[in-house]
Amino acid sequence: MSAAIIDGKEFAARVRAKVATHVGRLKADHGLTPGLAVVLLGDDPASQVYVRSKGKQTLEAGMNSFEYKLANDTSEAHLLDLIDRLNRDPEVHGILVQLPLPAHLDSDLVINAIDPAKDVDGFHISNVGLLGTGQKSMVPCTPLGCLMMLRDYHGDLSGMHAVVVGRSNIVGKPMAQLLLGDSCTVTIAHSRTRDLPAMCRSADILVAAVGRAEMIPGDWVKPGATVIDVGINRVERDGRNKLVGDVHFESAAAVAGAITPVPGGVGPMTIACLLANTVTAACRANGLPEPDGLTV
Ligand code: NDP
Repeated sequence: MSAAIIDGKEFAARVRAKVATHVGRLKADHGLTPGLAVVLLGDDPASQVYVRSKGKQTLEAGMNSFEYKLANDTSEAHLLDLIDRLNRDPEVHGILVQLPLPAHLDSDLVINAIDPAKDVDGFHISNVGLLGTGQKSMVPCTPLGCLMMLRDYHGDLSGMHAVVVGRSNIVGKPMAQLLLGDSCTVTIAHSRTRDLPAMCRSADILVAAVGRAEMIPGDWVKPGATVIDVGINRVERDGRNKLVGDVHFESAAAVAGAITPVPGGVGPMTIACLLANTVTAACRANGLPEPDGLTV
């Protein structure tokens, strides 16, 4: 293995420490405690784990955590009413509705009911538009975490060719926008892309956000490239459950210059960036300066 490992766990701990320091200052100097409300519908085990972890890390950073666990068959009107109350609650600076929502609910309608200033997931149509036009917005947590790691590793990204595999609204598209904002030349690839291996081999920065276990082998990676593996895939190996990324780690690490592992790469950065976004939202709501290095 030749690639440097980009340690998301360690980086996320640094981000959380920065968040906690800033929260301490907000409390001491302004009597302000940032608050994050998380709304979870149903009993999907993976979502429950995420929400528990978000609540725990929010409290550890010194912020207020408000959890709303609703039944799977909650009506749209009831959910919209809760969002309306949270929008108007001055103690709540960030609102996150855990996705995916049950099939009877319209996700776009629900997400767009959140006050854009409290939309710490960055999925509201206003934030999407602001990001797309290079204006100050709430930035989706996973791509924000990826960008932070890339900036930390490379410094200046300008002129690099970034290939983002995946065009979802929550990862691929905002990732591409952020890389463009840092003056990369950006290609977005997807399931209809012709000759994906050649496309990947042309990347100085390769971001994989597909959701297919180990789909990208080492011989799709340009020697010396930086590989950011967003994928989280549960597979069974030798009778045991294991998490793997969208990139075949061993073969890619043999040629890449740097690579994020799964687990321990992008994953921990996502919650750290959620905390960072909540502090940013609290500062903006109160007309206070935003902490350095916690957003773009
Ligand atoms: P989506 O399913 O929404 O999007 C997947 C994208 O991959 C689509 O654009 C799809 O193309 C593309 N794709 C699918 N198959 C291929 C293929 N064979 N070749 C090229 N492109 C393909 O997934 P998400 O963006 O939500 O998530 C992607 C991965 O990232 C998942 O593993 C998810 O678990 C993980 N994830 C991790 C997070 C973290 O915190 N680390 C947070 C969010 C997601 P098309 O549009 O043409 O169908």
